Amino acid sequence: MSDFSRLRQALTIEARHSYPNLKGNTARFADFVRGELVRLLPEVPATARGHVEPLLIAFEGYAELTPEERARIVGGLQALLPRLGGPVATAGPKRVEKPEVKPGEEEDWRDRPVQFVKGIGPRIAQLLAKVNVHTVDDLLHYYPRQHLDYQKRVRIGQLKPGDSVTLWGTIKRVEAYNPKPKMSLITVWVTDGTGTIAARWFGKGGNKFQLDRQKSRFPVGQAILMSGEPKIDSFSGRIVFDRPEIQLLGDTSGADADSLHLGRIVPIYSLTEGLQLKALRKAMRTALDTYLPLVRDPLPAALREKLGMWTLKKALEEIHFPTSQDSLQEARRRLVFDELFWMQLGLAYRRAQQASKTEALELPASGEFVTRLKDLLPFQLTGAQERVFREIQADLASPKPMNRLVQGDVGSGKTIVALLSLLIAVENGYQGALMAPTEILAEQHYQKIGAWVAQLGLRVALLLGSMTKKEREANYRAIEEGLVHLVIGTHALIQDKVNFKRLGLVVIDEQHRFGVRQRATLRAKGQSPEVLSMTATPIPRTLALTLHGDLDVSVIDELPPGRKPVETVWARGREKREVWEKVREQLSVGRQCYVVYPLIEESEKLQEDVKAATEGHAWLSEEIFPEFTLALLHGQMPSSEKEAIIERFRTGEVHMLVSTTVIEVGVDVPNASVMVIENAERFGLAQLHQLRGRVGRGAAQSYCYLMSDSRSEQTKQRLSIMEATNDGFVIAEQDLKLRGPGEFLGTRQSGLPDLVLADLVNDTEILEIARNAAIRLVSTDPELDGRPLLKADLFRYFSANLSFLEV
Ligand code: ADP
Ligand code: MG
Repeated sequence: MSDFSRLRQALTIEARHSYPNLKGNTARFADFVRGELVRLLPEVPATARGHVEPLLIAFEGYAELTPEERARIVGGLQALLPRLGGPVATAGPKRVEKPEVKPGEEEDWRDRPVQFVKGIGPRIAQLLAKVNVHTVDDLLHYYPRQHLDYQKRVRIGQLKPGDSVTLWGTIKRVEAYNPKPKMSLITVWVTDGTGTIAARWFGKGGNKFQLDRQKSRFPVGQAILMSGEPKIDSFSGRIVFDRPEIQLLGDTSGADADSLHLGRIVPIYSLTEGLQLKALRKAMRTALDTYLPLVRDPLPAALREKLGMWTLKKALEEIHFPTSQDSLQEARRRLVFDELFWMQLGLAYRRAQQASKTEALELPASGEFVTRLKDLLPFQLTGAQERVFREIQADLASPKPMNRLVQGDVGSGKTIVALLSLLIAVENGYQGALMAPTEILAEQHYQKIGAWVAQLGLRVALLLGSMTKKEREANYRAIEEGLVHLVIGTHALIQDKVNFKRLGLVVIDEQHRFGVRQRATLRAKGQSPEVLSMTATPIPRTLALTLHGDLDVSVIDELPPGRKPVETVWARGREKREVWEKVREQLSVGRQCYVVYPLIEESEKLQEDVKAATEGHAWLSEEIFPEFTLALLHGQMPSSEKEAIIERFRTGEVHMLVSTTVIEVGVDVPNASVMVIENAERFGLAQLHQLRGRVGRGAAQSYCYLMSDSRSEQTKQRLSIMEATNDGFVIAEQDLKLRGPGEFLGTRQSGLPDLVLADLVNDTEILEIARNAAIRLVSTDPELDGRPLLKADLFRYFSANLSFLEV
């Protein structure tokens, strides 16, 4: 590699990611640049050394600059590189000359600035930078956002409005005039023997001289090729062509004979002001002609053939300038595959790294506690619970670290599976920990699990942030001395002060509520314990593979027997009054009810949130249900108070719990059979489903009333889905369809590069193929050492976030 190439590459990558001051292996971008400048100083020709010091100063303050300012100094350094002694030192100051491209040359042509493409000058390069195209490689992968099919050749007599077509004809007449002062109109009549059609271009006006010059571009009698979409002119009612693409026979200004712009399937690119579609197509054509011969396919040929995939070369050619609709689909298939394949290969590689670095415990099940607990339980495990527990058991017994995510709809009985798993750790002489996202939930687990395991002669400790210092310290000691077998808590579990004697397994309940960092911290506790994650947020399989491609997923896809689906009704207007009567019926036969108020999206969010619930509570207890006991629960209360209230609800003393969304996760009171959700339109589908999961936990028929007067289409769709199904996976799929993957996932997750072409809703089949291919490659060669090119390209693909691969 030439000495400046690392610097050049860093500049390119930084630019490609819109100047975030990327963190590299050793340093942040700006510090890396300064280091390189100092290191390379001896090689800079004396005449150019004067540039270096100002650059050092500029990059010193880089972190404080706005993105625009950063772009300017990065661009400045890029432009100076040739003079500082980069490989193109002979280039003049203004314009970077295109060097000879030799295959096998050490420097990677893909990182060359787009200016290296013939016909792309500094001006177009600047415009391209605005759409994030900085290098030759960026350009080749700047896919069309759509294509127009001008392949269809038709005779004028057969034209139909709205079709994308191409036609041949002869110019019959031309007219140019100013219909209004600042407007010009040029009309060209074309005939092909079956009919005549007018092609029109409106313009900003012009004098007679200019109009005549425009007219003279269309000599009568000349043959002409036109592509576009004819439409009906609303004024004359006749069919016309507005602004068609044209080419005159014998016209050399359009450069090549087989035109890029008409008579074929043409690419449409996202543009930015000043960037012309035709100019971009031409640049793309040149880039393809120059660089496609250099493209090497990172995908092993055998694998490619087995999958029936096109070569990368062919796919890139055809995605830009397809020769047919079929070949466009094939090209897309290959490029979608690539995106998904890199992602899956990254996940598989990372997982192999983790496996080789982590020493895993081997925790075989002796059955001692597990069997005894199963005998104690008042119910039989469902088939799904048994199956998932067997999968967990196998993971624990194996010398490989466990990487399992258990998904189970609300109420599917994950807690007991968690407990059985923790008991295996205890059977092996280790401690187990269960981490929950809220104090309410931790407390509830503690009560339930504590009661069960006390009968096994085991001890459980609870750790909450809100405990007094004294309580906590007593617990720390017991944990450290190994006096307790199980510890249940919130993230208070991962405080520095908590030291386990011998931690064997950690179960993370509702794992999607924890950050990646918290999970990692927990993992680092003790002697690399095994980690099991659980979630009630069902993720469609495609997304699970995308996000958790490096996890094994077990699904508890069966509810305990006797559960009846929650009857769900959307109530609006007057119906709302009837709802309260239905609630009264339930309360009168001894059942309990939740009423939930939504978050209000305003600046004083928390206060407002509390206010709605507080007012609701006052109204319900005074006006509607004076004969019953109601209690209010919200997140601003001290946790001792929250616990006391939930306890009163659990024992049945409180009949109705009026709350904010604090009860969303996991509260388990089987006697509660009604849930009323106020302003249901404010909740997402996933959240509604979680909330509804608080009822329907016992044998009684349960009800969920969604109160909403909203008439928006979105509300209609969401609430009807809730009425139609209780299946969390179906709801999640619908949610994904309604919202699209980006929003569905919430904030950008997980450090994975963005997908450009691939569509997680529809490309599931390719995703599976890509995933299997990636897993197979890594399983035979975890370091990918046998495939250095593939490995290099993998790291290249993850260049913005290398730490993703380097666990
Ligand atoms: P979730 O998966 O939502 O965390 P829980 O673990 O809280 O569900 O279980 C919901 C309820 O179902 C609890 O009251 C639990 O005791 C009960 N339960 C769990 N498994 C079974 C089973 N196999 N048969 C009957 N009831 C069960
Ligand atoms: Mg649970």
